[in-house]
Parts: sequence; structure tokens; C-alpha cells
Amino acid sequence: MALAFDEYGRPFIILREQESKSRLRGLDAQKANISAGVAVARILRTSLGPKGMDKMLQSPDGDITITNDGATILEQMDVDNQIGKLMVELSRSQDYEIGDGTTGVVVMAGALLEQAERLLERGIHPIRVAEGYEIASKIAVDHLQQISHKFEFTATHIEPLVQTCMTTLSSKIVNRCKRSLAEIAVKAVMAVADLERKDVNLDLIKVEGKVGGKLEDTELIYGILVDKDMSHPQMPKQIEDAKIAILTCPFEPPKPKTKHKVDIDTVEKFQTLRQQEQKYFDDMVQQCKDVGATLVICQWGFDDEANHLLMHRNLPAVRWVGGVELELIAIATGGRIVPRFQELTPEKLGKAGLVREKAFGTTKDRMLYIEHCANSRAVTVFIRGGNKMMIEETKRSIHDALCVARNLIRNNSIVYGGGAAEISCSIAVEAAADKYPGVEQYAVRAFADALDSVPMALAENSGLQPIETLSAVKSQQIKENNPCCGIDCNDAGTTDMREQNVFETLIGKQQQLLLATQVVKMILKIDDVISPTEY
Ligand code: ADP
Repeated sequence: MALAFDEYGRPFIILREQESKSRLRGLDAQKANISAGVAVARILRTSLGPKGMDKMLQSPDGDITITNDGATILEQMDVDNQIGKLMVELSRSQDYEIGDGTTGVVVMAGALLEQAERLLERGIHPIRVAEGYEIASKIAVDHLQQISHKFEFTATHIEPLVQTCMTTLSSKIVNRCKRSLAEIAVKAVMAVADLERKDVNLDLIKVEGKVGGKLEDTELIYGILVDKDMSHPQMPKQIEDAKIAILTCPFEPPKPKTKHKVDIDTVEKFQTLRQQEQKYFDDMVQQCKDVGATLVICQWGFDDEANHLLMHRNLPAVRWVGGVELELIAIATGGRIVPRFQELTPEKLGKAGLVREKAFGTTKDRMLYIEHCANSRAVTVFIRGGNKMMIEETKRSIHDALCVARNLIRNNSIVYGGGAAEISCSIAVEAAADKYPGVEQYAVRAFADALDSVPMALAENSGLQPIETLSAVKSQQIKENNPCCGIDCNDAGTTDMREQNVFETLIGKQQQLLLATQVVKMILKIDDVISPTEY
């Protein structure tokens, strides 16, 4: 800071750019970054696995989220530190690419960082550590490919898919209903999957939730669900082979514009006006009936008069349907959205095999199911649950299960979960380490140790002795040459994950290792942190 004077003799202060910034360099920078990353990973570590803990997060406006999903926890945690934000990104990219394994990837990255810190302290250059990690991750990814199994399923034999989705769901809050939810997820994916091209468009699966009922009432609907009911209680509740007129024009007579005025000063005039209005309604209903519509779905509301008339003329109708839903109905039923009654033609009607209104128990809630639509294979997963938090968490869990099923259709290779794949990779990496004559050898070994921390976290979270359990399982794997031995989190009596049916997708696991290595390499390569000082 320096004091100077301008040409009029007025004083001013010169602040040097550097002075308003704090700076960390070299090893200090790396250590600070590593500890920030490790801090974020530690938070998630306790949430890993079937016995993992849940986190409760409160948003500034008081909304509460209880979840076990890594991506969601980090998303809502409001991380301030830039390196912490990288970890959030890491979990998000795993979520985006694969959909599952979001906690595991952060735990792995945290373990790699912890190991890296030790190596840096021993004087190994960060670039050598990064290179060693790169070599090790390649060995691990190749090894995963070798120990992976293909498993066969067909459109009718979906049990293996259900089993894998159950592994995903078993570590979530909803594990009470994991069997039925896994079946729903697999059936939903199968309904929209293209098995020839091995592709699944998850956009065709809509996940809806409504508070009320039990989690067990969650169901899969082969069609669309609209949170509306028939406009008149006496209209039919079920229409088969429905021909649907989708309207964006209201059922009401045209209103006079503000500059026009209608003077009604005699009873006769009033009667004529009323008759005219009635005729309008009558014409509108007639136009719908003429084209053969058996159901009207309208974006706007309608008069009581029109409502009554619709009921009387036996034309069921639904009102106040939102624009987005209207579009969805139009796409699914192959209909066109019609903005004027005059434009209604039979070809513009949407077709659905069954439209029904369903009431839920004693509550007054009613919903409209539009099923067996003409044009689309779109399905809806309709989640029920006691409160909003539960429904939101179920939505997230179903998302994970859907992603797992999709990944398996794309690539049906699996590896065994419960830390089995990590232990097997750790053994392979450890064995390969000796082949490297340079300093990288240490980093490769550190990678193997970091791989161990995933099964260790699983054991710790299940209340087992982490080191003892890990060493027992590891020696069993080597002795039996069996890459399926993992941590018996649920105390099922066997460490063989094949018997416990704990699978994970190969691409998910490979992605976890690759992403974690990339992020850690990135963090290690930062040796100068310049940030503005806070006043
Ligand atoms: P993520 O968000 O990474 O999927 P989870 O909390 O779902 O994290 O935990 C997944 C881990 O739990 C995986 O390593 C998986 O193999 C393991 N796991 C899931 N179910 C079991 C089980 N029944 N026994 C042992 N491990 C399990």
C-alpha cells in the first residue's frame, strides 16, 4: 500500500493487486487442497453401503431433505471451497453418466487424496504421484474387465436385472420395498427399451409422486398420469377406446370486448341472450360429438352451464389441464392440440385404450390414468408414500435403479459388489506395482491401498472391525482365487457376493475409478492458489 498525490495535491492510496490476494504455493497449496477434498469425502464415507447412515439437510427456507444418495447430499451441501466443489462435480458426473455409485466415487477420490498426501510428505513429486495413479487406474480398469461376468436376460426372463437393481436399492432408505421397487424399475425400463439397438430412452419414463398411501402402493402405469379428475362427479369414471379431443379453447361464449356494451333492459332481451349462450354451448358440445370424441381434455375451465350440458350429453370432460401435460397427452395419444372448435376433425383426436379416474382410499384425491396410448410406449412410475420427504427420496432411489437397469441393457457385464471388485483390483494393482522400477511404484501401491478403503468403509459402516474384516476377506480371495468375496454387510453368513446376489455394473465401477483418478490428478497438479482475501 502506498500513499501518492495527484496533480492537485489530493492524496490517494495505491493498493497493489497482490496485496488484496492471498496466495498459497507449492506443497502448502497441495496440502490445503487435499485436506479440503478429503473433508468432503469424509462426510460421504459414513453413507456408503447397505448400512450407511442417512443425512438430513435443511435448506435456507426450511425445507428438509433426508437422503442417502451421494450426489444429492453434495448438491445440497452448499460447499464453499473450490476443491470441495470439484468433488461435488465429480459426484454429479458419475450421476450423469451412470446414475449410480455417486457415493463410492467420492469415497474413492478421498482415499486417493489421503494416500497422495503421505507420498508428498515423503518427498515424491506430485507429477510422479499423478502418473503412478494413472498407470494403476489403467491396471484396475483392465482387471475389472477380466473379472466381469456376462449375464443373460431376455424380455421375459428379467430376474437377473431385478437382482442387480435390488443391490442398488438395498443401500437406500427405501430398502424395505426393494423387491417391488426393483421390479417396477426393470419393467419400466423394459417397456421403453429397444433391445435390438441396446438403447433405452429414460425420458419416456416419468416418475410422479403423490403424498398419501404406502410405499407398497407404488405402481407402474403403462401410460400417462394426470393429477386431475372428471369435471362432473356423475360423468363416467372409465372410458374404453377413448377418442380424445385436446382443446386449448374454453367452453364459454365469446365475451364482449371492453369497448362494446350490451344493454339489457327487458326480460325478453335477457331471455334471448340466455338462449343464445345456451346455443353456443350446445354447438360446442355438438361439434365435439360430431367428430366422434368420447372425452374432452381442456386447457381452460368451463362454465357450470357447459359442465352440466357436457354431463347431460354424455361427453366426459377434464378441465384445467396444464400446457405441459396437454402436450404430453397429445404426443402419447397421437392427437393434435386444437385451438378452435371449428378446427376439430376426427383425425385430430388422440386415441387411448383406457382412460380411468381413480380415487385413493378415503382421501378426496383423484387422478386420471391414460393407458395403452396409441403412439407411445411412455410409462409412469407412480410413487406413494407417507410424506413429501419419503417420496422425494424414493424418486431418487428409483432414478438410480432405472439407470442401473439401463446400463445393463447397454452392456450386460457385471462385477461383484460389497467391495469384492475393489479388493480384487487392489490385489492385482499391488502385484503389478513391483514391475515399475521408478518412483511411480509407490504411487501404484498407494492406489492399491486406496482401493481397500471402499470395503473398509463398508465394514466400518456395518459395525464390523474394518482392518480385521478386510484382511480376512482379502486372504480368502487370494487363497480361493475367487474375486467374488466381499464384505458381508448384512450378516448373511457368507462373504461370497454371488450367493448374496450383490452385483454392480461393470461400466459403473470402471467409471468410478476413472473419474476419481482424473479428479485427483487434477487436484495434485495445482501448485499455486491465488484467491481474493476476505475483508
Ligand atoms: P452409491 O451411491 O455409491 O451407490 P451406496 O450407498 O448405494 O453408494 O453403496 C453402494 C455400495 O454398497 C456398493 O459398493 C455396493 O457393492 C455395496 N452394497 C450394496 N448392497 C450390499 C450388500 N447387500 N452387501 C454388501 N455390500 C453391498
